[in-house]
Amino acid sequence: MTALPPLSMPPRLLMGPGPITVDPRVLQAMSTQLVGQFDPTMTAAMGDVMALYRTVFATANDQTFLVDGTSRAGIEAALVSLIEPGDPVLVPIFGRFGHLLVEIAERCGADVHTVEVPWGDVVPAEDVERAVRAVRPKVVAVVHGDTSTTMCQPLADIGAICRTYDALLYVDATASLGGNAFRTDDWGVDIATAGLQKCLGGPSGSAPITVSPRAVAVIEARKHVEAGIRDDGDTATGLRIASNYLDLAQVMDYWGPRRLNHHTEATSMLYAARECARLLVEEGLANAIDRHGLHGRAMLAGVEGLGLRVFGDVAHKMSNVVAVHIPDGVDGDWVRAALLTDYGIEIGTSFGPLHGKVWRIGTMGYNARRDAVMLTLAALEQALRSAGAQVLAGGGVGAAREVYEGGRP
Ligand SMILES: *Cc1c(COP(=O)(O)O)cnc(C)c1O
Repeated sequence: MTALPPLSMPPRLLMGPGPITVDPRVLQAMSTQLVGQFDPTMTAAMGDVMALYRTVFATANDQTFLVDGTSRAGIEAALVSLIEPGDPVLVPIFGRFGHLLVEIAERCGADVHTVEVPWGDVVPAEDVERAVRAVRPKVVAVVHGDTSTTMCQPLADIGAICRTYDALLYVDATASLGGNAFRTDDWGVDIATAGLQKCLGGPSGSAPITVSPRAVAVIEARKHVEAGIRDDGDTATGLRIASNYLDLAQVMDYWGPRRLNHHTEATSMLYAARECARLLVEEGLANAIDRHGLHGRAMLAGVEGLGLRVFGDVAHKMSNVVAVHIPDGVDGDWVRAALLTDYGIEIGTSFGPLHGKVWRIGTMGYNARRDAVMLTLAALEQALRSAGAQVLAGGGVGAAREVYEGGRP
């Protein structure tokens, strides 16, 4: 094979539903040289990560750490570690990622029940309660913000229902964490997982997770000895967790005070995860949530100012992503390609029932910024015009500017 030049990627502004442009400070942290797995500076950095993510998840859970892998690794670790074959599991579904929870729970051998609403809505708490009363699930597994539809499921009532009926609550907070309120302890969430590539402003490849004491107890009861390596005796009463890599009992022993060797921690991703959370904590979580709210409102006003119709129940929309109907007669993929090649800006399409029907535009993490919003709206206006759509000149940037200037004309 002929010699290749060093890797070189074009500059892009990633304004889709994730991944997003990584904060340069996170890229810088990732280029830090490695230390050994049990070097005191490494274990101290692991401790930092645990403390930082307790703040990010708004929890006092000791067991707050990283699963190595993309967000899906965190989801799968939670479900495979909780669910034994035959366990009843309830999944409220309001978008693509609800179906993913069903798929994973089925692979764990769960007896899966669902409550489903049309895309663009959230699941009413009464419907969840009715299903919980009927199914008596061991686990309720639900997505917080589903990027496929942009909806954000209210969780406080679902948490209370789970406590009343003694079910464990698992939440996928990948898309919402850091840009929308998320309160693990106040809402009674037993396990929450996330990823870095949405509001946390990092690359994909690390899955922050927090596990409540009652979920820890369920998982610990399934803990098995790894032959010849562990010294804690086999006290397990449950069925062996059907994954080694994603066995949270072992991963917790690795992050815990005993530091039992499991995998080799993905050090560069840990540096990234640490910097993502450090930046959020430095900014203040409430400020970061306000920032996502402001830029999300500006983008929403902007797309409406361009005459685009917003998809779904706006009252329940995540702050960090908006879906808009592709106007009749406009080729959605052509516009996305024009944005990418002519302006270096990426926006998203969608899946399933929304494929080819909506674009999804994100304002999250490092890109929840006024210049990123303004550039995207200006470019979108021109790309729409190139595609033959009638658009009000300056309608997008003008409406967004009004949001930034507090509604002044
Ligand atoms: C984006 C997203 C994911 C992404 O999972 P990856 O494994 O990191 O690709 C998972 N869940 C939700 C709700 C998301 O929005």
